[in-house]
Order: sequence, then C-alpha cells, then structure tokens
Amino acid sequence: MSNALQSPSLQTGRERTIIVGAGHSGGRAAEALRAADPVREIILIGREDYPPYERPPLSKAVLAGAATVQESYIHPAAWYAENGIALKLSTGVAAIDRGTRLLVLEDGTQLDYDTLLLTTGARPRGLQIVGAGEADVLYLRDIPDAERLAARLAPDVALAIIGAGFIGLEVAAAARLLGSTVHVIEVAPQPLGRVVDPAIGRWVAELHRRHGAFLHLGRSVRAIESEGVAQRLILDDGTRIVADIVVAGIGAVPNTELAMAAGLAVHDGIITDAEGRTSDPAIRAAGDCTRHFNPLLGRYIRLESWENAQNQAIAVAHCMANIKRPYAEIPWFWSDQYDMNLQVLGIAEPGTKLIWRGDPDEGSFIAFSLAAGHIAAATGINRAKEMAAVRRIMQRGLTVDPAVLADPASRLTALAKG
Ligand SMILES: Cc1cc2nc3c(=O)[nH]c(=O)nc-3n(C[C@H](O)[C@H](O)[C@H](O)COP(=O)(O)OP(=O)(O)OC[C@H]3O[C@@H](n4cnc5c(N)ncnc54)[C@H](O)[C@@H]3O)c2cc1C
Repeated sequence: MSNALQSPSLQTGRERTIIVGAGHSGGRAAEALRAADPVREIILIGREDYPPYERPPLSKAVLAGAATVQESYIHPAAWYAENGIALKLSTGVAAIDRGTRLLVLEDGTQLDYDTLLLTTGARPRGLQIVGAGEADVLYLRDIPDAERLAARLAPDVALAIIGAGFIGLEVAAAARLLGSTVHVIEVAPQPLGRVVDPAIGRWVAELHRRHGAFLHLGRSVRAIESEGVAQRLILDDGTRIVADIVVAGIGAVPNTELAMAAGLAVHDGIITDAEGRTSDPAIRAAGDCTRHFNPLLGRYIRLESWENAQNQAIAVAHCMANIKRPYAEIPWFWSDQYDMNLQVLGIAEPGTKLIWRGDPDEGSFIAFSLAAGHIAAATGINRAKEMAAVRRIMQRGLTVDPAVLADPASRLTALAKG
C-alpha cells in the first residue's frame, strides 16, 4: 500500500479503531469504547467462530454439564451490530503494517485503522514429550476444547491430567464429580506452584486426594504410548498410567507473534504502560497478551485472569476515548474446585512467612504474606466475603498488624474502612 493512503478518519470524519482478538478483553473493550464514544467506528476481529465469551465456565460448569457454552457469551452475537460494532469472526489478523496503518486479514481483506487495540490472549503451552504428537492429547482454552472434553467425560473413563495448575485441577474436580478415574501428574512437589505458597498447594493436594484423585507429585511424564483409544503414560520413576483421555494443562503462552512481527516491544507479553500503550502510540493492548505496568506494584506483570482481562480492557478503552483512568488494580484470581472457592490477591514473593487466619483443618482460612507492614498477597479458601475486605485493604495500601489479621475475632471489613 502506498503512503498516500488516507486514514479512515480523513475519509469519513470518524476515527476507526480496530480491536484484534474477540475474546473476553476484546469484547469488554468494544463495549466500553462504544459507551464512551458513540461516534467512533469500531471493528472487532476474532479468529474464533463465537462472539466474545468468558472462559472460566469452560473448566467448571460446562464440563459438569451445568451450563451451555452460550451462557458464557458476553453478549448475544446480534448485540454488536445493534451497538454499531462491526464484529468480524472466523478470521484472524495476519499482519500489521504500522507505516500505512493497515491490517491484513487471514482471508486476504485489508483494512486501514487510525488506532488499534490488540487483545490476542494466550494459548495453551504444547506438550513436548515423546509420543505426544501421535497421542490424543486434549487442551482446554476454547469452546471446541470444552465441548470435546465434556463429550468424553463419563464415570467409566480414566483421565490422566498433566499439570496441577488451575486448569488441570479444575478438570480433575469436574471429572471426579462425574465419577471418572483421575490421575494428575505434576513435576513440582505440590500443586499450584506458580501462584500459591507450598503449604496451600499441599492443602489443595489433600482436597483432591480426599475426593479420590490420584496425585503423582514431583513426577514428570517421559513418554506417551498410544494403543488404540487407550494411552499409556510412562512417568520418570517408571510408573505406567493407562488412560482413555489425556489432558495437558501446563500453562499458557501469550499470543504475541502478530505484535512481534510488527516490531512492537514484546517480552513474554506485549509491553504496555498503565494505559495500555505499546511502543507504537497508535497501538494499545490489553488482557492475557500484555506485560503491563502496574502502578500499585511498581513493576511490569503478565496476568492470566478473568478480572484482569475485563478491567484492563475497560480501562484501556477509556484511555483510548480520552477518559484517563490508568489501570491500577491488585491482581485477583479465583478458582472453584469441588466445594472449594480459592481466591488469590496480589503476587507473593516466594519464601515469605505466612500469617494464618482460620484453621486449614476446618477448610476455611486466609494466608497472608506481608511486606513492609502491608499485605503483599493473600490466598483465601472459602472466605469470599473477607477476601473482598482484604482487597480493599490492599487497594488502599493500608498498613496492617499481623496479630490483628490472625485474630479470628477481628473484623476485616472494619479494617478495610481504615
Ligand atoms: C478454561 C479456562 C478457565 C479459566 N478460569 C478462570 C478462573 O476461574 N478465574 C480467573 O480469574 N481466570 C480464569 N481463566 C483466565 C481467563 O479466562 C483469561 O485470563 C481471559 O480469557 C483472557 O482474556 P483475553 O481476552 O486476554 O484472551 P482470550 O479470552 O484468550 O481472547 C483472545 C482472543 O484473540 C483471538 N486471537 C488471537 N490472535 C488473533 C489474531 N491474530 N487475529 C484475530 N484474533 C486473534 C483468539 O482466538 C481469542 O479468541 C480461565 C481461562 C481458561 C482458558
């Protein structure tokens, strides 16, 4: 394309924003941008066949058969046209020409933009194990993945789940509740190693054992051998596990290839400031694909969480519409497994001494990590109401007394009022 190309705003008088990635962040960003700016032209482009949807139900209610995938849609497909948002599904963006502000789509269409928002999310990390290529390994990221897995879960099947992170453990819980035999293989000595203290990881391991899951901790899978529909996993200690279904939940990789090919700054995530600005002033980014600056923590972080996907997208959309509300929130993540609700606030430094509130043996507690008199991180098990107060304490940067936090008679809601 020549440099003589006129920008859409020069042609129509309306700024054209294209949002690349019609997932959770993309959907919420389009909605917030439309609400903040009724005039601008908004085009939302997604590679999936579905309108923007929330992913948490895919590893919970959808697997349990308690919700349809349509219930996870942010809005019905028709809502976008009704609100002046051009939703273009089932095609990805193949390239960005930043010089001419032009997008090239995988179906060959070319579209010029004034401003761009990248919400390309993340994808499951692929299993690099002997035999994994030939084996029938399932992953869980999108609606087809969830439908494929849900269709195969049954009381008489055996699952081998590789990875005891949130996805692996939620699949384990859903499968156990349906009566399947469940093996979880995790290379670390306890589950959830990346996000919670080892003591809480051990507590979660016990929860799964009590529900009848077989946990192979500190073990890795050497190879997978396929024999018809049955698959045999060979662990590093020689253990052999025969499974009908193999699920890999070994983390996610941010979808940054498009940004990298366009020459944007990327380092395990598209680098952005607190307003979502990338290294190109015309391009912003939000959601799982970003490594963004968090002013409350004073550093760059990459998150894979529902709340970040939503609130960062909304904040960035507002900044695009010149409503300056930089994104500054305490990271928050939740997981539901069996009858356990687990919430994690903040990011704990490994090795920090924990302050306990409540008795883990009673199945309901909060573990706090403190730094310089403040709560740096908190993990709550079945303490949703108190965790809402903890979030307010952290968000406000209040100093806390460890003895008060540990005292079951103290009221965190009162502390949060400062
Ligand atoms: C099964 C599952 C369960 C989860 N449960 C929880 C939970 O309980 N609690 C919690 O806090 N978080 C949970 N999460 C995390 C949360 O859902 C994600 O953080 C969130 O979906 C990220 O939103 P996003 O918009 O950044 O990315 P996504 O929702 O992944 O959307 C990105 C979209 O961009 C599209 N795309 C990528 N590249 C292109 C391209 N070049 N052109 C066009 N489109 C493109 C992708 O196809 C995708 O549709 C869960 C995630 C999964 C997968």
